Amino acid sequence: IKILAIESSCDETSAAIAVNGKVLNNIIATQSVHENYGGVVPELASRAHQLNIVPVVDQALKGANIDKNELSAVAFTRGPGLMGALLVGASFAKATALALDIPLIEVNHMQAHILAHFIDDPKPKFPFLCLTVSGGHTQIVLVKDFLEMEVVGETQDDAVGEAFDKAAKMLGLGYPGGPMVDRLAQKGNPMRFEFPKTEMPGLSYSFSGIKTGILYFLRDELKKDEKFIEDNMNDLCASIQHTLVSMLLQKLRKAARQYKVDQIAIAGGVSANSGLRNALNDLATQENWQVYIPAFEYCTDNAGMIAMAGHFKYQKQEFVDQSISALPRMKF
Ligand code: ATP
Ligand code: MG
Ligand code: FE
Repeated sequence: IKILAIESSCDETSAAIAVNGKVLNNIIATQSVHENYGGVVPELASRAHQLNIVPVVDQALKGANIDKNELSAVAFTRGPGLMGALLVGASFAKATALALDIPLIEVNHMQAHILAHFIDDPKPKFPFLCLTVSGGHTQIVLVKDFLEMEVVGETQDDAVGEAFDKAAKMLGLGYPGGPMVDRLAQKGNPMRFEFPKTEMPGLSYSFSGIKTGILYFLRDELKKDEKFIEDNMNDLCASIQHTLVSMLLQKLRKAARQYKVDQIAIAGGVSANSGLRNALNDLATQENWQVYIPAFEYCTDNAGMIAMAGHFKYQKQEFVDQSISALPRMKF
């Protein structure tokens, strides 16, 4: 089974090949145009996807040493994501499937983030809980099988990646700020500052309150000392990261106890965060969990995870026809 997979939901144009469930080549073109705007500009994203998609797919095929005529199916990200961005990948995938007369497979981007765990060893055993933390989502997912998943908790407002990025922006760091906060936090004191956490019922998250909390805190401190941010940058990053990570893990622990699951995974862009990885490993020792953390390459958006999802759907012959379109608010 040879799957060509295409990812274009946000600001990464990516293509990958999976042969019998093994990801051979994962090509990612990250769009730098957005850096000047402090966030992803949807119109620029779709234009960049249009420019990148042909060379990226070409490189993925060549790198895997596969001719397009050998392909068994084409998989693409149907959603969730930006409409204009998704449409580029969807149109390209549809045209390719039509031209080669092979099946077309739609993939849910958030399911694919979780299925990234099946690219390399060790692989989690079912059922497991996955904390999916990215730029647009914060979810606790109960994974019963490859394609059988249930969201048991999620954010009611902002995603945690958004909170990282917005905090970074307030500190005057570039975009995307998450990785920068991570780097500076490693030299800072996580206990130095405290920020108010919003208490949420059940397994729900909320990250909009802490964003406002940080904003007011910085405003007040800057009134007293205009160099407050630059003088305390590392401690600020460490304290913000510590607060966000502990909010994430508190609900994850609650979910694990509630569902009596000891296989715990994390996925999505924020799972690259070193503070989260360290704290998760510590909690795992306490709670007797087996934790699964994907390789950095498969944390943020990539087509390798789409290829993996495509492989599982191919095995179940879950194909779609040419009437399919992108679905920006796709659920699962
Ligand atoms: P979604 O998957 O919800 O559609 P997305 O695809 O934009 O959103 P990803 O590419 O999975 O999200 O992740 C990007 C997010 O991950 C950004 O918010 C970025 O700041 C954050 N991120 C990446 N690396 C780190 C890190 N080391 N620490 C904290 N955040 C990080
Ligand atoms: Mg991205
Ligand atoms: Fe993503």
